[in-house]
Amino acid sequence: MQSHQNEWIPITPLEQMTNKEYDVLIVGSGAGGGAALWRLCEQWKNNDKRIGLLEAGDLMLPTHGQNLSTMNVDRLLNEYFPKVSTHLGRRLPEYPDATLVFALGGRTLFWSAASPRIPVFEMKKWPVTAKEMNFYYNIAEKIMNVTPFFAQGSSMQNTMLERLKKNGFLEAIDLPMAVNLKGIQYGQINSDAFFSSIHFLAYALNWRPFDLAVNSRVVQVVIDKGKAAGVHVISPDKKSCFIRGKTVVLSASALETPRILLYSGIQGPAIGHYLTNHSLLRATGKISRKNFSEEVLGNLVINIPQTKHSPFQIQIFGPEKHYAYQQFEEKPFLEELRIAINTFGKVESRFENSVYLDFSERDEYGIPKIQVNFSYSETDNMIIQQMAQAKVQAALAMKLSLISQGDSPPISLMPPGNDYHESGTCRMGDDPLTSATNRFGQIHGIPGLYVADNSVLPSIGAANPTLTTISLAIRTADYILQQLG
Ligand SMILES: Cc1cc2nc3c(=O)[nH]c(=O)nc-3n(C[C@H](O)[C@H](O)[C@H](O)COP(=O)(O)OP(=O)(O)OC[C@H]3O[C@@H](n4cnc5c(N)ncnc54)[C@H](O)[C@@H]3O)c2cc1C
Repeated sequence: MQSHQNEWIPITPLEQMTNKEYDVLIVGSGAGGGAALWRLCEQWKNNDKRIGLLEAGDLMLPTHGQNLSTMNVDRLLNEYFPKVSTHLGRRLPEYPDATLVFALGGRTLFWSAASPRIPVFEMKKWPVTAKEMNFYYNIAEKIMNVTPFFAQGSSMQNTMLERLKKNGFLEAIDLPMAVNLKGIQYGQINSDAFFSSIHFLAYALNWRPFDLAVNSRVVQVVIDKGKAAGVHVISPDKKSCFIRGKTVVLSASALETPRILLYSGIQGPAIGHYLTNHSLLRATGKISRKNFSEEVLGNLVINIPQTKHSPFQIQIFGPEKHYAYQQFEEKPFLEELRIAINTFGKVESRFENSVYLDFSERDEYGIPKIQVNFSYSETDNMIIQQMAQAKVQAALAMKLSLISQGDSPPISLMPPGNDYHESGTCRMGDDPLTSATNRFGQIHGIPGLYVADNSVLPSIGAANPTLTTISLAIRTADYILQQLG
């Protein structure tokens, strides 16, 4: 029987793409790649420019997994995600929980949609001004439907925010979430609530044509006369081809983008270095329902952002996995409720934390795999200790008792990579000795070659990175628009 699995979005065969020369070729369709595509299509509308999008993975989900009626948080993240994601960390002793999703949409198909901004004081050394960041944050938040009202009206949220504030956590706020809360009106369907990069593709499709090839792994960028000229791509049947592009935007993630650059022989002392993430302490607290007077408690989605004196953020989700759940699922009436408290710590950007090519191990295409050098500095470890203390205080403030999960202690430091926030491996900056790209995301000294994904973030403080990656990818697209006219 014929399979129609691949028909929810137009796909262009890779061979057809070899016959064209693209004005812009984007590599990877996750947060950064999707945002760059969206902006180019939005601004160019239907002109004669050619845009190509090359994605290593296949079509997996046509929307964020949380929007599927048959999924809930548990089924999505504990059952489906481990089956379809690639646990790269298995062979990375110093970065054991690194996990990528090779599929159209990348990791945005599964992300939790937490979208805080990086505080201005964390961006002081960035090559982009706070004013400009504010401009691009506004664009990104609008297109991603970022809202502080995800738990609006929830009595549990109100009670816990009040308790936190009364007990010294004055900064506690409703966590900004990239979720469309609008209902259906006048025939406009807003059912695709959780944001994913598929939204970018949907907008782009309605503005103008672009070519999308899936199962197309980019392995090298080709430079001709000092400028980007295209990419070498390998298909699953191991056929290699060259796709011509005057501008190439690498958006393959902070682990895969440096791999492509390094394998292309592109020189730059910062490429692959300054790998940054968040140290992550997870804990679960329990509380009796008797603590709350209302029968309907609602959900809990709180952020205690980083401050100058507390270089970490605390995110609180609950009860159980019902901070988000399907209309088709009945919430059980539980006497005892569990709340997740995740604390993300700032990690210093250090040269020695790096991604490099390991020529002793190759993938099925013969390309060297990556290896990672990574450790926490003394300062990072001091922050981790501060985080543990703050977590205990936050739990006390909310009247939660911390509990052990299986064999783990009540507060567990997760292995590096578990936060999924790796970034910085092609960071932006003015000095080519300490940055891989210039302030617009262009690789130093190579016109036409750009990076737009988590790798360009110069630092991330303690905030979840995706909103910032999307803002910078839109900014890089604007720069490309200026260059190409
Ligand atoms: C379960 C989960 C929860 C998360 N929650 C949050 C959250 O609440 N807030 C937050 O800010 N972040 C969160 N994240 C992290 C977030 O998903 C990432 O920060 C974001 O997706 C990174 O964007 P990116 O463009 O760098 O990479 P990705 O989104 O991973 O996209 C990379 C894309 O490149 C493709 N690719 C890779 N190599 C190649 C190649 N050689 N050729 C062609 N294509 C290639 C991949 O298939 C993929 O489509 C979460 C992640 C997970 C997994």
